[in-house]
Amino acid sequence: MSHGCCDDEPHQSHGKNSGMIPYEEARVRVLEQVRPLSETEETPVRDALGMVLSKDISAPFHVPNHDNSAMDGYATLGADLSTDAPVTLTVIADLPAGDRLTQTIQPGEAVRIMTGAPIPPGCDTVVMQEVTQRDGDQVTIAPGARPGGHVRPAGEDLRAGETVLTRGTRLQPADLGLLTSLGFAKVPTYRKIRVGVLSTGNEVVEAGTPLKPGQVYDSNRTTLLAALTALGVEVVDLGLVGDNLEATEAALKRGMEKSDALLSTGGVSVGDYDLVKVALAKLGKIHFWKVAMKPGKPQAYGQLGNCAFFGLPGNPVSGMVTYLTMVRPALFKMMGTEPQSLRQVTAVYRGPDVKKKPGRLHFVRAQLHFEPDGLWVTSTGPQGSGILSSMSKANALMVLPEQIRTIQEGDKVETLLIDYA
Ligand code: AMP
Ligand code: MG
Repeated sequence: MSHGCCDDEPHQSHGKNSGMIPYEEARVRVLEQVRPLSETEETPVRDALGMVLSKDISAPFHVPNHDNSAMDGYATLGADLSTDAPVTLTVIADLPAGDRLTQTIQPGEAVRIMTGAPIPPGCDTVVMQEVTQRDGDQVTIAPGARPGGHVRPAGEDLRAGETVLTRGTRLQPADLGLLTSLGFAKVPTYRKIRVGVLSTGNEVVEAGTPLKPGQVYDSNRTTLLAALTALGVEVVDLGLVGDNLEATEAALKRGMEKSDALLSTGGVSVGDYDLVKVALAKLGKIHFWKVAMKPGKPQAYGQLGNCAFFGLPGNPVSGMVTYLTMVRPALFKMMGTEPQSLRQVTAVYRGPDVKKKPGRLHFVRAQLHFEPDGLWVTSTGPQGSGILSSMSKANALMVLPEQIRTIQEGDKVETLLIDYA
């Protein structure tokens, strides 16, 4: 593969921000380049949290599958009840949940019944215990109990054959419960995508050893591995490489064999040691862009064989913001589900003026407050691309559009809710 794709190369000769592509365009292009995985498997329901259904699922039977009692009380015939006088009936059987009665009850009779137990043959009504008085095998029912009351009819929740979950659903706890209630022990899913994470940089070292001057600990791999774990994909830790072309190429080769998508951080800027994009261009297909967003200007995307490549910037917050806004929707698409973006709400800004230069869209690390008088949002502090502490305090990102220069107290601001799962 040649050092191709020149239409994607920014022109760097006309000032700092030339050759930038708009944020929304970059998002669309990243999403376009990935394809859903086609391999499917049968996954035990208990292991399927966050996985994606590869087929529609329909109910094999009615839920509930028999008429049953919604209350602890007495099953009777509605015709026996009276609106203006107490009625005394003979209790002919006791019916806990899990038991059933085959005998048909006759007028003047009742069956003691517990919540969830099947309605005995002949009965059409359950009278709740609170309006009854028991004396030996007799029960007296206060006037006014409603004929037909407190019966949950078969199929009330789902009808046999009805589609309950559709292909592409990313399974959440309630879905897994629903599948189990329908008797499924396994479900058809797409296999989990494998996502590799690689850090680059001569100055980057593993935590656990003392830091020498000029070094930084590899926080990017920690954040990305954690974000991917929260997403529920299979994570592949590809370690750390220095700014060395052969080592970077070797790491990308290892990565493309083991993963469906590969995320690297660092080495995609325009510095002398930014070798990720050089290695990528040699081994695969590269699109290197400057995206009009802050943090996160330089980014590289492409393809390494069958592996989708996401070259994120090295600065810790740039990497995270790029992951959340660009990469996460693309990974959803690869998983076979809707490529959801972070949820967006409009909130009222509180705090000192925030100033920005026009030209790039800014994401401001923020706290979104859910108050009785509505949603309001504050900045979490200094916004340098390397300042992780303000990211750690954030539950949201304010979105300041490219052309605006300032926001002030009381302004309405579009805000993205940070979400990794
Ligand atoms: P680069 O994009 O490689 O020029 O890196 C930009 C900045 O991010 C530099 O200050 C790096 O030291 C820092 N950086 C790069 N990779 C990491 C990492 N894995 N963990 C923490 N900081 C990093
Ligand atoms: Mg670097």
